Amino acid sequence: MKTQKKTMQAVTVFTARKIITMDPSLPEATAVAVSEGRIMAVGSLESMEPWFTGRAVTVDDRFADKVLMPGFIDNHVHPFLGALLTPMEIIAPEPWRMAGGDIHPAANTPAEYEARLKERLAARTDTDELFISFGYQPLEHGKWGRPELDKIAPDRPVVLFQRSFHETYLNSAAMTALGLSAEVVSDHSQVDFAQGHFFETGNMMVMGKLMSTLLADDWYRKGLGITCDLMRQGGITTAADMLFGTISPDFELAAINAVIEQPELPMRVVNVFDGRGFSNRASGRGNGAPDAEIDFAAGQGAMEELLGKDEGRVRFLRAVKLFADGAMFSALMQMNEPGYIDGHEGEWIMTPDVLAQGVKHFWEAGYQIHVHVNGDKGMDSVLDALAQAQDAKPRFDHRFVMHHVGFHTNAQSTRMAALGAHASVNPYYIHALSDTLSELDLGPERAGQLVRSQSILRNNMKVSFHSDFMMAPLEPLFLAWCAGARVTRSGQQVSPEERLSMEQALRGITIDAAFALGMDDEIGSIVAGKKADFAVLEDDPFDLGVDRLKDVRVAGVVFEGAVTMLAKPVASVFGETGRMPVPEPTQDQLEATHCCHDVDPCGHLQEIAAWIHAMPEDVLGQRLS
Ligand SMILES: [Zn+2]
Ligand SMILES: [Zn+2]
Ligand SMILES: [Zn+2]
Repeated sequence: MKTQKKTMQAVTVFTARKIITMDPSLPEATAVAVSEGRIMAVGSLESMEPWFTGRAVTVDDRFADKVLMPGFIDNHVHPFLGALLTPMEIIAPEPWRMAGGDIHPAANTPAEYEARLKERLAARTDTDELFISFGYQPLEHGKWGRPELDKIAPDRPVVLFQRSFHETYLNSAAMTALGLSAEVVSDHSQVDFAQGHFFETGNMMVMGKLMSTLLADDWYRKGLGITCDLMRQGGITTAADMLFGTISPDFELAAINAVIEQPELPMRVVNVFDGRGFSNRASGRGNGAPDAEIDFAAGQGAMEELLGKDEGRVRFLRAVKLFADGAMFSALMQMNEPGYIDGHEGEWIMTPDVLAQGVKHFWEAGYQIHVHVNGDKGMDSVLDALAQAQDAKPRFDHRFVMHHVGFHTNAQSTRMAALGAHASVNPYYIHALSDTLSELDLGPERAGQLVRSQSILRNNMKVSFHSDFMMAPLEPLFLAWCAGARVTRSGQQVSPEERLSMEQALRGITIDAAFALGMDDEIGSIVAGKKADFAVLEDDPFDLGVDRLKDVRVAGVVFEGAVTMLAKPVASVFGETGRMPVPEPTQDQLEATHCCHDVDPCGHLQEIAAWIHAMPEDVLGQRLS
């Protein structure tokens, strides 16, 4: 006699116009049965009948004209950046989607910038409150120093963050409000007092004054809420925080738990530990120079205290994030010969020696290792570290993942595969950076071959697509378009040999994105036994084709069986235009491009994170206790 293990649970069957399962054994279906947050059956309504006997069955046909896919997975985001930046008034050279779905259009000329600034100032009626705007780009927006700001805002405090996040411009009222008087700053070498311009260490001083505002619950948690709302609009049901603990594990955990559980948001966040942040904190050091020694064993000890402490929708992976070379947006990746056109050098975030020590330590401790790497010389350092680790202690199915992979060679693809590595790439680089890197830094051949995903697949590795938010929008379908279609800002298609088929493009935001987190047995495809996480689409991607993936509209999500629909379906913020105006590179731009070029969470923001973490107790006080 068979023993009945559990009582028969109620079943909901969702029928749909089409279900794209991302499971090669059963790629398409029209019905999916869900019970207790998991998938019970996939097929047609008729095929599920054996399951219905003795169970309360509800057929939910609200998706009759919709397409279901596995809930999208973005395996590399930075919630702390979203928390700090999204509550700012965003006026930038590219469009941004806001919470609730509205789009803040791009400002590409001084006149557009001025109009938007005045409009946003008028919309914020509390004139005592700091008005903080993000996205100012002098090359496109013209000069907005203290005199210009005083003219449009004579008696309310205004702070403009440059797009790069490491320069600020303040009006007189803001300098008074933040206590940045002439006595305090006038002889600081990185402050232009008359212009209200604060840069590098001068900017750090402004950040210090703003921290109590930005880390307060009504700012930080609001920003996390906006970030989660953007994920929902992108159809994301699982996101990985690829640098958890960079500010403070307790602070970050309390904030994400508060936001994700109340009310219950339709997503989970999985945390990958910041290897350097945890280690330096545990050994009482600040984040030092790229070659500064790091006590990885101390960091591992602090990580293990959190492992197993999963709560609700937030969980911890036995996984660590390390860094190799500098950021693509700043053209500071480490490049092999022939290097950069103008002869400048890239930078290390961790030198090859420090990286190799980190890889060795966490490899031997059995961790999954994720490494940020951009240039081909950076890639050599990561491959060398991995090869040494494999020599000392061979491991199988270790899922060592290269992140970003701005430029790498075919020889490196082969070596990655031989060592068992895989890739999670940022394909937005192709769209956003190919044109300028071609002109200014790498030349058309290498700049056209950024983020070569097909070569990774040709070598039998898996490749997934991430936003590195706020580097790119939280829009997996847009990212799949970037990787699949390879169209630059100017509308040019680069390295068409590296384009992807629809199936390849969609795997990178579903099952292969789950693989990179070691969660492909649980999420990423619509298969019996997996979590009932779905992206609900208004359009069938296969009808539109790879070249129009960014136009596919997200209508809602299903998270562990619970349906959340958007007020209206949304396509990518780049959906309608597909391209942004590209300013002609000028000599000024040549000089500016290697610094202050764009948002750079893994470069300059890394410094800010380190600095927040090293801030004196009286500034942060109880915030981080
Ligand atoms: Zn990142
Ligand atoms: Zn700079
Ligand atoms: Zn990075």
